[in-house]
Amino acid sequence: MLTNDILSQWDRENFFHPSTHLGQFARGEGAQRIVTGGEGCHITDRDGNRLLDAFAGLYCVNVGYGRTEISEAIAKQARELAYYHAYAGHGSEASITLAKMVMDRAPDHMARVYFGLGGSDANETNVKLIWYYNNILGRPAKKKIISRWRGYHGSGLMTGSLTGLELFHKKFDLPLTQVIHTEAPYYFRRPDLAMTEADFVAHCVDELEKLIAAEGADTIAAFIGEPVLGTGGIVPPPAGYWEAIQKVLARHDILLVADEVVTGFGRLGSMFGSDHYGMKPDLITIAKGLTSAYAPLSGSIVSSAMWEVLARGTDENGVLGHGWTYSAHPIGAAAGIANLDLIDRLGLVENAGKTGAYLNRAMAVALGDHAHVGDIRGEGMLCAVELVADRETRTFFDASATTGAKVVGAMLKRGVIARAMPQGDILGFAPPLCLTEAEADHIAGVTAEALREVLG
Ligand code: PMP
Repeated sequence: MLTNDILSQWDRENFFHPSTHLGQFARGEGAQRIVTGGEGCHITDRDGNRLLDAFAGLYCVNVGYGRTEISEAIAKQARELAYYHAYAGHGSEASITLAKMVMDRAPDHMARVYFGLGGSDANETNVKLIWYYNNILGRPAKKKIISRWRGYHGSGLMTGSLTGLELFHKKFDLPLTQVIHTEAPYYFRRPDLAMTEADFVAHCVDELEKLIAAEGADTIAAFIGEPVLGTGGIVPPPAGYWEAIQKVLARHDILLVADEVVTGFGRLGSMFGSDHYGMKPDLITIAKGLTSAYAPLSGSIVSSAMWEVLARGTDENGVLGHGWTYSAHPIGAAAGIANLDLIDRLGLVENAGKTGAYLNRAMAVALGDHAHVGDIRGEGMLCAVELVADRETRTFFDASATTGAKVVGAMLKRGVIARAMPQGDILGFAPPLCLTEAEADHIAGVTAEALREVLG
């Protein structure tokens, strides 16, 4: 039996962790947690802690931990057929069944799903399909992709470029030149506090129009956005935003990609964020909630209109030159089937809406009066608490004070995991969709205690 000390040492000496301060970790500083198990909304670790995971891993364990329905489906699939590829018309019963289940749930105008492994590769697929589409339509110059500042779309070369967070660009020579960014629909941080929501939507539209005019609509292929900004701060859009943006895109023949890696399969209290906000995307990115992260699997769902052009493209040019060895992996597909069944059976989409609203209200009651709470916002089972140095002027705390991270640390001491979002002092909450009201009350209570400990 490995002791904690040995594991900890092996970890520090051998393991190159993602999104981690490498030098600190190697020197034995900074957080280290070796997770051993989980049940419902809780995880356990090697130090004997049992923690309420109010971020569902990386907002992905939507059905909660320890669901034997999924682990048994994975084991059964591994015994029968652990792997076969999906190239040249091959597949498995699991991948075909899951494709049918996804398309039964997707908005009506969508036609097919392509399966990948994670959200980043699904967005890489989307951009390639968009470029292919415009080449088939004889518009080789129409290639740029518009993303929003604070958007998160992955951390590959193209997808890290789409991501509108400085940390993902700095010293990586990103963004690539084909990606341009526009205003985030972040009402709390609007440029002029006198703006109403409607004024601010008009401002976002204006910024988009200006960008399109400056670059030329004939050079712009697509606009990508999360229905609710996630990693960039959990920011639901102002009322009317998506309707107004879609009008601009339609006028300039620009495709819309709804990145539903976080919002897909129920997190907002609707099956898809596109349904929730009346979006009519040409492509939808799915990942996390597709399998609740029990196995890696993602997807790109394409509209009927786009599908027809792609199919015509292969008639003219031969086989689509795009595929991963693990596309539509049978084990991921088996996990996806069991997961979507469970979401239906437990009514988790409804619970996300209902208990998510309860969590947001509980936060408002517990923290709303605190002098350093600037904004409490959310949608469905997503909630953010934005901390400010001054409530009136909305000034930020000095970044070096790491105020948000300190509050998250004080919560962890009390057994609750929240996430300090990467830009600004924003506490993020995205619990499993099976959260109960009692658990929501507990999260809100612990957040209030931690805030008082750090900020008085
Ligand atoms: N899109 C969105 C909206 C995401 O939140 C994420 C991951 N947080 C990704 C894409 C990238 O997914 P992955 O980390 O699985 O590559």
